[in-house]
Amino acid sequence: MKYVDEYRDGTLARRLAGVIAADVSAQRTYAFMEFCGGHTHAISRYGIEDLLPANVTMIHGPGCPVCVLPVGRIDAAIRLAQRPDVTLCTYADLMRVPGSRGVSLLRAKAAGADIRMVYSTLDALRIAEMEPARDVVFFAIGFETTTPPTAVAIKQAAGKGLRNFSVFCNHVLTPAAIQNILDSPDLRRMDRVRIDGFLGPAHVSTVIGSDPYVFFAEEFAKPVVVTGFEPLDVLQAILMLVRQVNEGRAEVENQYRRAVTAGGNARAKALVAEVFELRKSFEWRGLGLVPYSGLRITSAYAEFDAECRFNFKTAAAADNPACECGAILRGVRRPTDCTLFGTVCTPETPMGSCMVSSEGACAAHWTYGRFRDRRTAPPLDHAA
Ligand code: SF4
Repeated sequence: MKYVDEYRDGTLARRLAGVIAADVSAQRTYAFMEFCGGHTHAISRYGIEDLLPANVTMIHGPGCPVCVLPVGRIDAAIRLAQRPDVTLCTYADLMRVPGSRGVSLLRAKAAGADIRMVYSTLDALRIAEMEPARDVVFFAIGFETTTPPTAVAIKQAAGKGLRNFSVFCNHVLTPAAIQNILDSPDLRRMDRVRIDGFLGPAHVSTVIGSDPYVFFAEEFAKPVVVTGFEPLDVLQAILMLVRQVNEGRAEVENQYRRAVTAGGNARAKALVAEVFELRKSFEWRGLGLVPYSGLRITSAYAEFDAECRFNFKTAAAADNPACECGAILRGVRRPTDCTLFGTVCTPETPMGSCMVSSEGACAAHWTYGRFRDRRTAPPLDHAA
């Protein structure tokens, strides 16, 4: 396929891996976090870690939108869907994420709640138009990539006078999460977990651009390389990170120049700024309350805000204590460090969000058999 096969060339990949191996210093280790679930998926799918020298480690980050949604928000969506007047529209990935006491949207649907899987915000709008007697709520999640389509749906609903449509907004922001990880006590104790640089997100960066990462690079002296999802993209970005580390540089570099600019998509950003505003804080699974990391709908569009319309609040709820999703999302555990991985917890019987979503680290490791040769690897918090 044009524009895809070129980035999956095995010969070129091995050659790039050879250049990385030649460039790394045997005197040190390199630990890079891929923030985005799409990169985690690509690294597992194409066996990229197998191509890297043993002293280069990839650490999975919190960039899976389904995984970072806390249990309390899932519980709130389930309670909303159980109202007799409400139709809750959601993406398929969210259906099986366990809420409190193992209840999920799928189970609530089986028990009679009107929950429908949609492919886009516009599907939810269409349902609202076709069924004016129902209160149709779109369960909106995701990073900066999925926020503009939600803004479009709200603006279209306003334009059409669709009073039976609203959005349960759970959109979150990437830069705030990266800053939270770099500020976390786990990282401050540098003997525990060390991150030498970041693979910057691909899709998110097409919207926000590469400029928002300059702050981290300067403030925390960590290089960031924005990169695409194909194996050659990821390998080239790792090489760029290795070279920055070797040269003592901490800059933002853009490997994904075919899609990402420094400033991002001005139209999409203006649309988002019109419809959404920052929350003072938002809870993330694994990261806890992160300041200014989530969006809510502005007062100008408050009638489309499900939290205002149904006047509900979300309450914090505990994760399954045996599930290590929180630690995995903070980058201090690997999926195989979890005792439930592949035994009690599989994609068919997920105990945590990281096994549900196709972008989740546990699902990626399980799907591509990445656990087989790495079961004996030392846990990350014992790494040098
Ligand atoms: S394997 Fe399952 S239970 Fe363990 S961390 Fe992953 S999702 Fe949670």
